[in-house]
Amino acid sequence: MLIGIIGAMNEEVIQLKETMNLKETKTIGGYEFFKGELYGKNIVLVECGIGKVNAALCSTLLIEAFNVDKVLFTGVAGALNPEINIGDIVVSTDLIEHDFNATAFGYDFGVIPRMENSKFKADKDLVELAKEAGEKEFGKERVWTGTILSGDEFVASPEKIKWLRDTFNGECTEMEGAAVAHVCELLGKPFVIIRSISDKANHDANMNFDEFVKLAAQNSKLIIEGMLNQL
Ligand code: SAH
Repeated sequence: MLIGIIGAMNEEVIQLKETMNLKETKTIGGYEFFKGELYGKNIVLVECGIGKVNAALCSTLLIEAFNVDKVLFTGVAGALNPEINIGDIVVSTDLIEHDFNATAFGYDFGVIPRMENSKFKADKDLVELAKEAGEKEFGKERVWTGTILSGDEFVASPEKIKWLRDTFNGECTEMEGAAVAHVCELLGKPFVIIRSISDKANHDANMNFDEFVKLAAQNSKLIIEGMLNQL
């Protein structure tokens, strides 16, 4: 079994890279894919860059060039649910591209015209595994499961939080997850997106982000570790 692991930013992959037993580095389309072993499992690790297009291209390459069996995404996100705190974990049950807007044709927000499905479901077993690993590490009250929203926007306002909550009922928002999910669904690969909260998507989000990104990335990494030990 070969497991693909994606993070958007250097902060989100560097700890895994330093821990893994690196055997081969392959560069495709400007992305460096690190192949090797991590906690006894065969993995390919890659930093996809920020935003949906980067995430979609990179996950496509990961699946097509390496034929990974499962895809795990580790990273940080802004909380939308007011009960979720910085450092908490959100495991995706499903993901929506929140900036998709074809409402002029009568579609709901987030619906991609002419696609059967615009809400991409994570793999049940991987969700369960991520949840268990998270709860073991951080306790039940700090691990949430639910809908994750993705868009090419760093959300940093209470008005946008309210709109996203009212429209999609998402738990947190970020910029890559739904793109990875979209690709995995089309290419038939099981996936889960694991996000640790770096900010509360409000006016302080950019400052909180800078302060907490490392902590949040570390939390996500601990879950990957717990999951790989059980896979
Ligand atoms: N500070 C960075 C930009 C970070 S963009 C720089 O200047 O280079 C934010 C990244 O963290 C994205 O990868 C996104 O997935 C995630 N993220 C964290 N909080 C977010 C929020 N409030 N809104 C959207 N994405 C967020």
